[in-house]
Amino acid sequence: MTSQSIQSGTAPSSDQIRRAPKVLLHDHLDGGLRPGTVVDLARDGGYGQLPETEADKLGVWFREAADSGSLERYLETFSHTVGVMQTRAALVRVARECAEDLAEDGVVYAEVRYAPEQHLDGGLSLEEVVEAVNEGFREGERTARDNGHRIRVGALLTAMRHAARSLEIAELANRYRDQGVVGFDIAGAEAGFPPTRHLDAFEYLKRENNHFTIHAGEAFGLPSIWQALQWCGADRLGHGVRIIDDIEVAADGSVKLGRLASYVRDKRIPLELCPSSNLQTGAAASYAEHPIGLLRRLHFRATVNTDNRLMSGTSMSREFEHLVDAFGYTLDDLQWFSVNAMKSAFIPFDERLAMINDVIKPGYAELKSEWLFQQTASTRGSVVAED
Ligand SMILES: [Zn+2]
Repeated sequence: MTSQSIQSGTAPSSDQIRRAPKVLLHDHLDGGLRPGTVVDLARDGGYGQLPETEADKLGVWFREAADSGSLERYLETFSHTVGVMQTRAALVRVARECAEDLAEDGVVYAEVRYAPEQHLDGGLSLEEVVEAVNEGFREGERTARDNGHRIRVGALLTAMRHAARSLEIAELANRYRDQGVVGFDIAGAEAGFPPTRHLDAFEYLKRENNHFTIHAGEAFGLPSIWQALQWCGADRLGHGVRIIDDIEVAADGSVKLGRLASYVRDKRIPLELCPSSNLQTGAAASYAEHPIGLLRRLHFRATVNTDNRLMSGTSMSREFEHLVDAFGYTLDDLQWFSVNAMKSAFIPFDERLAMINDVIKPGYAELKSEWLFQQTASTRGSVVAED
């Protein structure tokens, strides 16, 4: 082993992780507000139901409520964020700040999802919701650029599993596909609401050659993943973490994949894994025990995601830090996750390739070469000291 590979194999610092170009495919707009923004918007919009009106306390409240261990309770926290996102100005602001916060954290490409049908209480139409969020993302990309960060944000339109508007939302995603919307998603509690209820939406999107992901295999196991792939035709799995139930690890360490796990790996189906979110909903007990370790070793198309930054008190850098601590990941591993995510994005192939070759790989190469210059600096420092 050369000294360079030894050096680049050491654990990256927090600062390097923050500067590393990161790709995020699974992030909810209504799960990523700044606590101070929730307070501002509630005050301006006359929303009187916040449990706390001080930003810091409210941030803690969100994390604690989401820590309760049940997916249903976790979803409850969204009544407040969605409650303050009912006007055009509020949506523009939340989307702008989302792009700014992600860029500040070193995310270079993000697909951020939201359910337009949940933002109609203030009288907006579905189209007005989509246009407001798009405008916010474009503003955020511009302010990020002014601050020296490059980010590109695409929207995924989500339909709610328990509602009956999925075809309408799929049509909306298709109408705006060349104007900032890159795909479609189904979200909400899995229990009792299988994705097969929304087959007409998926069939419509397939006929339109459009892309979609489905929240599956988070609270529910293999049947949910199987339905999402083999009945609905999902391009990616939102979470998909329960695919681990189809993988057997013997006492001697040998691994046997079942038919579904083999299919997911063979077909390079992207898994939008969200470690901190899984810990909060009880889908995994600790970072070290999170299936992402095994899935990465077995070369599944694993990606790392934030899910809900506010509820989990997290960011892409925090997720990477937890994984570095738990699994000893190096910059090479973080690059592998980032390239995986970029390969799995819903933007055109040539753009994904350019992001990988012109942004992600050079970014990691620069970080990986830093040790060379640090050593030169310290040698030079000691020479100067002796003089
Ligand atoms: Zn999610």
